[in-house]
Amino acid sequence: MASSSGPPSRPPPGYIPPSSTVRQPNPATLAGPMQNLQIGQPMAQPGPNPAPYGAFAGQGPISRFGPPGRPLGSPAIAPIGPIVGNGPSSSAIPGQRFPPPANSQYPAGRGPAPPFQSQVQPGRSFPGSPPLGASLSSQTLPPAQNSVPSQPIPRAVAASPPFAGPPSQYPPGVPPFQGYPGRPLQQPPPAIPPASYSATPQPAPQSFSGPPPPPSFTGLSRSQPFAAPGPSQMFSRPPISSSSYQVPPSMPGVMQAPPRMYGMAAHGQSTGFPTAVGQSPIAAAQGSSPSKIDPNQIPRPVPTLSETIFETRLGNQANLPPPASSEYVVRDNGNCSPRLMRCTVNQIPCTSDLISTSSMPLALLVQPLALPHPSEEPIQVVDFGESGPIRCSRCKGYINPFMKFIDQGKRFICNLCGFTDETPRDYFCNLGPDGRRRDADERPELCRGAVEFVATKEYMVRDPMPPVFFFLIDVSMNAIQTGATAAVCSAIGQAIADLPEGPRTMVGLATFDSTIHFYSLRRGSQQPLMLIVPDIQDVYTPLHSDIIVQLTECRQHLGQLLESIPSMFETNRISESAFGAATKAAFLALKPTGGKLLVFQSVLPSAGVGSLSAREAEGRANVSSSDKEAHKLLQPIDKSYKTMALEFAEQQVCVDAFITAQSYVDMASISVISATTGGQVYYYYPFSAVSDSAKLYNDLRWNVTRPQGFEAVMRVRCGQGLQVQDYHGHFCKRIPTDIDLPAIDCDKTIMVTFKHDDKFQEGTECAFQCALLYTTMYGERRIRVTTLSLPCTSMLSNLFRSADLDAQFTCMLKQAAMGVPINSLSQVRDQMTNFCINILHSYRKFCATVSSSGQLILPEALKLLPLYTLALTKSIGLRSDGRLDERSYWVNRVASLSVPLAAPLVYPRLFAVHSLGTKDDDESAIPPTLPLSSEHITDDGVYLLENGEDALIYVGNSVRNEMLEQIFGTPSVDGISSQFVLQQHDNELSKRLNDAINEIRRQRCSFLRLRLCRKSDPSGMLFFSYMVEDKSPSGLSYVEFLVHVHRQIQTKMA
Ligand SMILES: [Zn+2]
Repeated sequence: MASSSGPPSRPPPGYIPPSSTVRQPNPATLAGPMQNLQIGQPMAQPGPNPAPYGAFAGQGPISRFGPPGRPLGSPAIAPIGPIVGNGPSSSAIPGQRFPPPANSQYPAGRGPAPPFQSQVQPGRSFPGSPPLGASLSSQTLPPAQNSVPSQPIPRAVAASPPFAGPPSQYPPGVPPFQGYPGRPLQQPPPAIPPASYSATPQPAPQSFSGPPPPPSFTGLSRSQPFAAPGPSQMFSRPPISSSSYQVPPSMPGVMQAPPRMYGMAAHGQSTGFPTAVGQSPIAAAQGSSPSKIDPNQIPRPVPTLSETIFETRLGNQANLPPPASSEYVVRDNGNCSPRLMRCTVNQIPCTSDLISTSSMPLALLVQPLALPHPSEEPIQVVDFGESGPIRCSRCKGYINPFMKFIDQGKRFICNLCGFTDETPRDYFCNLGPDGRRRDADERPELCRGAVEFVATKEYMVRDPMPPVFFFLIDVSMNAIQTGATAAVCSAIGQAIADLPEGPRTMVGLATFDSTIHFYSLRRGSQQPLMLIVPDIQDVYTPLHSDIIVQLTECRQHLGQLLESIPSMFETNRISESAFGAATKAAFLALKPTGGKLLVFQSVLPSAGVGSLSAREAEGRANVSSSDKEAHKLLQPIDKSYKTMALEFAEQQVCVDAFITAQSYVDMASISVISATTGGQVYYYYPFSAVSDSAKLYNDLRWNVTRPQGFEAVMRVRCGQGLQVQDYHGHFCKRIPTDIDLPAIDCDKTIMVTFKHDDKFQEGTECAFQCALLYTTMYGERRIRVTTLSLPCTSMLSNLFRSADLDAQFTCMLKQAAMGVPINSLSQVRDQMTNFCINILHSYRKFCATVSSSGQLILPEALKLLPLYTLALTKSIGLRSDGRLDERSYWVNRVASLSVPLAAPLVYPRLFAVHSLGTKDDDESAIPPTLPLSSEHITDDGVYLLENGEDALIYVGNSVRNEMLEQIFGTPSVDGISSQFVLQQHDNELSKRLNDAINEIRRQRCSFLRLRLCRKSDPSGMLFFSYMVEDKSPSGLSYVEFLVHVHRQIQTKMA
């Protein structure tokens, strides 16, 4: 219909149409000029039973209201009838009332005060209270943590060059001065002492500076002990810490693990031999002998339960960061927090040969606005006044703790390029006996790895933009009938209550089906006007000033409008969606300011620019017949959305898409807009108004209230010897050295890969510096500078010792996601497996001291790599049986995923819910985890599995009725609605389950989509698909995989 509309035609100025409708019942007429200027009247709804326009409203006489003086192309104006407060009864879905979603728990960490540090104005409390009422478990952080303890040291220095400068190409070689010595380590309240370990060569394993805590950073204690070491056990290992996994000779009659067998029942390996700890040489199967590994002894992630303190440098050396998902408090004493930047190796190889020999990636995972731990000192803001921050005049690197002042402080040597600059007169300070500036400890930029500089005019091409939020809501038939529109309106209505107040925050709203409907909110006390844009081929937009207005000016109107939209479109029969055109039109409205465009979409875009065809059937056929071409369906169908997105990014418009779908929407094509503009895609499939509304609301609320910045530019510089190879993530790149981020938030991570262009000298350090220039929510232009200086090494063993599992796996995950649209799934799976094998082979060949070929020897730091690799090959993204949209969503999500969320996405946490109530009162909210193996699932148990995105509650077939009653409020499994909402009942078990889920939500900064899985239906299959240690159609069991890896290494060694 509308997609076939003719050439664009627009109404003449001042044209007043005779029609008395706002919306035409006959879609075929929508493209014509006649519909362009309908005056608001009781509308004839499309469909057989026209309903009065705004069934919600009082329907008084509607004043005629012409559009005199509107420019050509301005849209129709139709006043909406008086909008009165419409309760839930106005919901478009009979029987579905909005709000509230029955699940009234909100993650404590989401709303309440993530410690939004320097961006937050002093005294401003983080928006927080969840409006849905009911029992909320949110906590509000003390305001003190939200304030900016900035220590501005205003001074005038020589004018600094603008932000963008040439890349750094100069020798590092400057030994870092001692940064922040002697700071007393404060103990955190928990009993566990600070555990930090140093990257400096020391006897393996790295020892703790405190008594050995049960959960710790050293590799061994992170995984389940494979010879059950006690908490205080000292591990003896050869100089390079590594773990050997015995592959003992097979016992007659005992299950043997043949590497490449599919479709067999899993397990049979539950009994086995304990394997050796460390390197004890053990007679092992040679060559062709079948191998056996005890599944209870193999490495698995063990969550750290206690909070630790992490000093970023110890003894003037970079300190190895704790596991990304552990709870730790960072003391920045020169290097930035690992939350902000994390390198795949914590010692930098001197040569490119060394890194290629290791087969490890050299990459930095940068999350520049990452949330700090609430106990951490906030990042300090430094104001250099009009002259701006001190920078190297050659590479434009920013002043940091590793720039070395010489010549009594008159000059300084850049640690990134080696260039020597004169110290600006106003910045001069004498050096102390230790060679450091005497003021080094008082100046954050000289003693902290993360600081924020106040940007001067030179860093602005215009005044900092205001925060602008534009909501674009699908009101097509599907969205209305599934309850998506009502859920979205309810969510927006509540989320805007949490938007930062202030004169700067601006909002706008439009709805769309096969046409686009803007709303003029600038009406004083009058009702909002609907402004229709019927032309979806050559899109235009109403006057910016009418439709994007200050939040303070329109809060009430907007709320009323949102309440009324579901009923306004209650009987909408238009099934087509002009998603592309609507997005474009909203962009045009945002163009003068830039801002965030939040699109809510329910169906495949089918009309106007950017309409798509269903490729799903094609995809299914391809997947089932052969893998060969299927990956092409994971590429955008054409360049139209990419072109659009580049234009959006140029005008600082970021698009977040909330997909509330029941069927295929071509995620591969539409997600390009978000990926290119620094945005995010949310995917609710199949959308259920009952069970997904709470998540939708929480996702939206977090989206608009989380720490974030706008119109950002980011560049990473590194010491000479390396150069940036590429950036990966959600951004737009116009020049090789910088990335443009129309928006950046605390959850977004960018991967930066490096390659050598020169050598490093042993004993020097290589620095990485990320500079993010951005505008805060409050209109401040800032430069967040994070610096990480790591020692260089020519020893392969040091590389393995300092390898960062979390960073390496994140890198691997992102590489896999990049490969999925380009290669067949089987190719990507093989690539990932080989990636793992090559690293382990390098270690085995060059570093391991035990020569028995019967042993699988894993570097201590990377001993979970095989498990994560196996889990990755079985993940939604790489499994052959997944839906296309699901896989595309996975690819999109992984691209900007943070390090702490990477491993859990493929290797989720599994908990036994049924044992929750049996624990002591002082237990942590999070129960112990179970291995992801169906061996650990009993038929009378209830389990919770979470991967940061979804939470599955699995119910076995013979769970006691009493327990079902406690958890679900009903005594039978069948009595639980499939549109599942977890409620809290008045008993200990239910309370603990809800507490655990809320704690997980806080940890993950994600609301989690709760789904019920019953053993005997497809949802049970979904649950078991996460049992990645099992043998399954999608791959080997964990034990078999280890054997496979071992044999591959043996083959390579031979
Ligand atoms: Zn420099």
